[in-house]
Amino acid sequence: MTSILTAGEAVARIAYLSSDVIVSVQPSLATDSEFSNFFKQYAENRASGLICKGVPEIQSVRHNADPLLSLYQPVRSGKIATVTTGSGILVKSIPHLYRLANYPVVIHVSLHPTGNPDYSDITSIRNAGFTLLQSTSLQEAQDLALTAHALAIRSGKGVIHFFDAANSQNDQPIAHESRDLVMNVLNTELARQYQGVKSEELSLYVSEGRPLTRNIGLSGMDAPPLANGSPVASGQASPGTTGPQQPSSASSSSSERHSGSSAVSEAESATTVDSQPRSVSSDDIDFICSSVWSQIRSFTGRQYGPFNYTGPANASSALFLFGSDPGLFASELASAHHADFFRDAGLITPVLYRPWLAERLLEALPRSVRRVAVLEQIRKRTTKWGPVLLDVLMSLKSSAGPQAPAVVGFQLGYLEETTIVQALSGIFQNLLGQSPIQNLEVGAPDGSRQPGPRRGLELSPPKLENAYMKILDQVFAERLYIANKQSSNNVGLGDQAISASPEYGFGSLLARKAHRQRFVGEVQAAAKSHDFTTNTPQKWLTQWALAASNAVEANKLAPDVIQRLATDGSPAANQLLSSKGLFFKESQWLIGSDAWSYDLGNSGVHHVLASGENVNMLIIDSTPYSEHAAHDAARRKKDIGLYAMNFGNAYVASVAVYSSYTQVLQAMLEAEAFEGPSVVMAYLPYNHEEDSPLNVLQETKKAVDLGYWPLYRWDPKAGDKGEEPFKLDSERLKQELQEFLRRDNHLTQLMRRHPEFHASLSESYGSEVRKVQKRKAKDAYEALLEGLQGAPLTILFASDNGNAENLAKRLGRRGKARGLKTMVMAMDDFPLEDLGNEENVVCITSTAGQGEFPQNGRNFWEGVKNSTDLDLVNVSFTVFALGDSHYWPRKEDKHYYNKPGKDLFVRLTTLGGKQIVDIGMGDDQDPDGYQTGYNEWEPKLWDAMGVGNVENIPDEPPPITNEDIKLGSNYLRGTIAEGLQDQSTGAISAADQQLTKFHGTYMQDDRDLRDERKAQGLEPAYSFMIRCRLPGGVATPDQWQQMDAIASHLGNETMKLTTRQTFQFHGVVKGKLKPAMQAINQALMTTIAACGDVNRNVMCSSLPEMSELHREAHAAAKKISDHLLPSTTAYHEIWLKDDNDKNVQVAGDAVQDFEPLYGPTYLPRKFKITIAVPPHNDTDVYAHDIGCIAIKGEDGKLQGFNVLAGGGMGVTHNMKKTYPQTGRMLGYCDKDAIHIACEKIMLVQKDNGDRKNRKHARLKYTIDDMGLDVFKGKVEELWGQKFGEPKPFHFDSNIDTFGWQKDERGMNHFTMFIENGRIEDTADFPMKTGLREIAKVHKGEFRLTGNQHLILANVAEDQLDTMKDMLKQYKLDNTNFSGLRLSSSACVAFPTCGLAMAESERYLPELVTKLEGVLEENGMRQESIVMRMTGCPNGCARPWLAEVAFVGKAYGAYNMYLGGGYHGNRLNKLYRSSIKEEEILDIMKPLLKRYALERNDGERFGDFVIRIGMIKPTKEGRDFHEDVSDDVELAIPT
Ligand code: SF4
Repeated sequence: MTSILTAGEAVARIAYLSSDVIVSVQPSLATDSEFSNFFKQYAENRASGLICKGVPEIQSVRHNADPLLSLYQPVRSGKIATVTTGSGILVKSIPHLYRLANYPVVIHVSLHPTGNPDYSDITSIRNAGFTLLQSTSLQEAQDLALTAHALAIRSGKGVIHFFDAANSQNDQPIAHESRDLVMNVLNTELARQYQGVKSEELSLYVSEGRPLTRNIGLSGMDAPPLANGSPVASGQASPGTTGPQQPSSASSSSSERHSGSSAVSEAESATTVDSQPRSVSSDDIDFICSSVWSQIRSFTGRQYGPFNYTGPANASSALFLFGSDPGLFASELASAHHADFFRDAGLITPVLYRPWLAERLLEALPRSVRRVAVLEQIRKRTTKWGPVLLDVLMSLKSSAGPQAPAVVGFQLGYLEETTIVQALSGIFQNLLGQSPIQNLEVGAPDGSRQPGPRRGLELSPPKLENAYMKILDQVFAERLYIANKQSSNNVGLGDQAISASPEYGFGSLLARKAHRQRFVGEVQAAAKSHDFTTNTPQKWLTQWALAASNAVEANKLAPDVIQRLATDGSPAANQLLSSKGLFFKESQWLIGSDAWSYDLGNSGVHHVLASGENVNMLIIDSTPYSEHAAHDAARRKKDIGLYAMNFGNAYVASVAVYSSYTQVLQAMLEAEAFEGPSVVMAYLPYNHEEDSPLNVLQETKKAVDLGYWPLYRWDPKAGDKGEEPFKLDSERLKQELQEFLRRDNHLTQLMRRHPEFHASLSESYGSEVRKVQKRKAKDAYEALLEGLQGAPLTILFASDNGNAENLAKRLGRRGKARGLKTMVMAMDDFPLEDLGNEENVVCITSTAGQGEFPQNGRNFWEGVKNSTDLDLVNVSFTVFALGDSHYWPRKEDKHYYNKPGKDLFVRLTTLGGKQIVDIGMGDDQDPDGYQTGYNEWEPKLWDAMGVGNVENIPDEPPPITNEDIKLGSNYLRGTIAEGLQDQSTGAISAADQQLTKFHGTYMQDDRDLRDERKAQGLEPAYSFMIRCRLPGGVATPDQWQQMDAIASHLGNETMKLTTRQTFQFHGVVKGKLKPAMQAINQALMTTIAACGDVNRNVMCSSLPEMSELHREAHAAAKKISDHLLPSTTAYHEIWLKDDNDKNVQVAGDAVQDFEPLYGPTYLPRKFKITIAVPPHNDTDVYAHDIGCIAIKGEDGKLQGFNVLAGGGMGVTHNMKKTYPQTGRMLGYCDKDAIHIACEKIMLVQKDNGDRKNRKHARLKYTIDDMGLDVFKGKVEELWGQKFGEPKPFHFDSNIDTFGWQKDERGMNHFTMFIENGRIEDTADFPMKTGLREIAKVHKGEFRLTGNQHLILANVAEDQLDTMKDMLKQYKLDNTNFSGLRLSSSACVAFPTCGLAMAESERYLPELVTKLEGVLEENGMRQESIVMRMTGCPNGCARPWLAEVAFVGKAYGAYNMYLGGGYHGNRLNKLYRSSIKEEEILDIMKPLLKRYALERNDGERFGDFVIRIGMIKPTKEGRDFHEDVSDDVELAIPT
């Protein structure tokens, strides 16, 4: 039988059997660890694991490449993951350990250096939340490795198994653990449950320290299987154990916590203040371990417990060993002679080190033991008393009371085998003496194995306590620089030495930083010089200079750079080498004491915080808790932490080394990494050298547990990483701290819950930059006005869509013409503190959302509203408000009408302002809109100001219209080319924004980021949307791949398939606009006239089952599209010629283009044409300016088209003059003439459309104003032909048919569901990648449908299987969605569309999900109901033709429409206005139920709601606003 020779092999085999993924940490990828070569062997043999289904994945990672980072991905995707590593990585990985402790990961740690490792690597991480298991022999290595995996799976928490491989190097080989045992112990069923769970955590930062709510392991724990495989009820496990529901009364205690808590729950208390979910307790771990070990025992006979005791049952003394060679110690103790001090002594070692189970220790130790020597092999001693000594001491003292054995600590150095007896003699001599000395060192303290004189036992005096300094040294080693280091012996002892010179220290740090900065400059210069012997140094210096500010990178490169310079030997190299220390980036610290807290404002703390410099401070507070109350009340200490947190720019931590060592390390690492000042307050209650360990421990415990010294970490920048800024690492908080957090939490929560408040909150939260900007802007304005005569008039506006702003500017111009010194500003740009000094103020505001201020007036309003000291007695003011009296139809909402203006007027009056004139109100419902009210109000204002009758006022220039822009653009050139060159902004000019639409691109900005960027004084995050022109939506696989590449490399990595069958890219920044345009054209597509006042993309039914007809219809679409293309060469010049091409015509050139069809002003408005092939109305033929209904001839071929004209969707809310319209029938036209007929219709519109009012410019209004017959006559006249009688046709639906279909030629087509047309990769659904891969092999074509879905078209039989496999592989073959989802569509809206009033694409899928339950319940899952949503009434997703539609009214509020025809034949009608989700669901759920119960056979939803009288039918667009209930708040149907 094969056998196992080393601990590394034993562990590797168990790890391999028990994992999906193994992260194998190696010294280098070429050098094996003690585990890695076994993994390689197993993998080469394709050996199968037990946990994973197949061969586990092995990831080899270098030890210095942040190896635990590799764990997040597998654990979050539900993989059972294991790490094998040396101990050297642990301390640096503490930030990861805290997070990974909440996953069932196992870390097997081989302690290094083997044979004499430093166990401080283990004690340092004891509070990180992991369960820690130790093995000390070969057999134990195998059994406890298995225990570790079983424990991880059953508890759901991380486990670290550690061992010193040298302990077992002389052990006899052992047999493999049987696969049966492994299977049985591991609980593979439970493991499977984990494998199905994906974590919702997405970043490294979210949920840090927050226990996950996955209780898989715990649930499985209630009935752990016994050795025979039968489950056992809770509490019935092996003797001496208690179930998790029955915590033992004695429970555990540790040096870190009072009894009853555990290491696990302690780590989990590292959480935010408000969360306390169920955690795994030490009792749980105890219970699981007992259960696992009971299974191992019944299989193998081997016994394990949390502590392993060997020796006489009546021992009088014992050695507690936390170090190497327990076997050797045990055998020496066992063979003690009568005369030896250590006769009758036993040996005890921890198997389960964390959680520390005090009760189990007492059980393991014979009651006869009176004295216990604790040997700790901790080389890097940071505290006076070792952690294990404190653990043992607390356990025995608190459990056994005064009868407790005496405990004496020893520091274990390296012992030669031959000196063990001598060492034991010394240890026991001291232990058994009258007054044992604590902390004696045993063996060579530096751990050296070098031959030479050895010390078995050497007395050495205890060191002074300088714990925190040593920890800094442990963490940062040679990088550590302490600026005000007096003498290490002073630190932590008192305040007299340290408090003396913090300013000096700080000054020296600044000087040091400047010095290094200079050095970096010198290196940069040297890297560009030619002063070196070879070229090598330049390369290294450049690399270093780039990394100079990054400590990790710079320090990694430094030795190489120094070596290269030394080899070079040139004077330049020597010069740099003379300061070679500066190649390393230091960790710089100032050390202070609590003396600073008496006069914080003048202390070093204040200087550091105020400077904002990247400096770390460690402040040691040594006042014992018991004494703090007795302190001089007049010299009350201030809370430095609170002071620093209130400053807002500093990292702050409060730590206590005798409470949580790991937290100290974590805080120091975080403080160092923080860019800015950091303050770590460290507690070390200390009276004098003779303090007993118990004393210090108890003082610390009291202070922490009572909340006098809470443990916490505060990172003000944590929010940027999606993390909570405050992490409480202990349980109680002082009241002041609670108040601070409540205040801070309140603001943070408020901002999260109500993003609309964000700007005002952050404004009031100290945005200094904005204040300065405001001040500068106003001062500049005032400087401009200097010297002008006349009374001052300050006009402040708040405006979202530009109306209020334009009005304010016009008022300003008119005021100036009347001799007034006018100043016009957005309200938010005006420094509020100046308001009381103004003479005359006019505020003009429009109304946003639910009666709110527009975005650029919100902070101003908040300030005015909340100010208590604003005095306006010397200010004269008035307000003009713009709104829509019908926008809120419900009675209770009527007060929203002009609410901001009315509120402001009242408030300014309250603050003492004198009214110049009464408030003016403009109403969109008036005949001239808001102008009606304004025209009455403005003259009153001038009269009141005494400038009503001024003569010779110059004429105002007329406002610039879109028509002017087009006319002056030289055939769409404008200044686009120059604008693209301007790198000072991501934007282009307003006029060019209109013109680029004709080129297929719109400027947008990310609305999610607007407020934040504004608060930071940045321009909005501008980017461009690009829309392709793709007649009929047909693309080749090559084109698909090219589109994919454009989205990935030049856009936001997603593409939108639009409702008009084309590709749309978002997030293209200005610098990438031209390359993107060129790439689109290289793909033989174009973007010209994809937007703008021209004929846009021509659509065509997708027809997967009728390819022949599709070919003909598509050809017709292409012909129409090409025929109506603009002729301007501007597109080619601006986008396609390269920068060196001199032959470019830009604005101003003498050569003029010619537009034979369009002329210089193009069309009055956008123009859309579509083709539908009955019975499919999948392109919504009634919704476009021209709708062509294909007519099939007798021969089955395309014969011609019935032509509809005047369909259109765009509407303005509540403006009854605007309405959606369906196309009206003009008659039949042969297929060969269709492009000419379309041209003529377009030309009649060009000449007759309304060019004055863009809201009335679409063809639908032209026809309605002119009358259909007159319009048709004009077309026929221009055409010279007449339309024929329309041919009969019939439509069935306007949705797509999903799944595979075969056409008449035997080719296959698959229509796949693309939700709202968005092509993107997500973690679960790599849709974009899948389609790209398919495009690489597909030989047919892609067809984009008018419903935003996609057809994989023309798949030949021999490719069918491949395509099916690929669709399956990428989950694209799933069409098993509800009929409602398959029939739904949404426009883009937020965050990119500038017109969006509410969410659409991001929200509709959610709404559908919320309705699907009702559909399921009523057996209607498959029912198709056409539901559409848009973010505004522009109607891009053609909502007015849906059976049910939601159109954005304000953020979160929608107008609801009902009664559209199922196949896009009838418009719907307004049912409810401004309703939110709750109301939508309240209406829809019972309505769907009622539909299920009461519908007639085959009756469609849109028809049903009309039949039951819920809504009146809309016969055509002009009826759209008719018969809408006055009170659209109709009773909710039941
Ligand atoms: S319907 Fe409105 S919100 Fe939606 S994409 Fe069109 S313009 Fe934007």
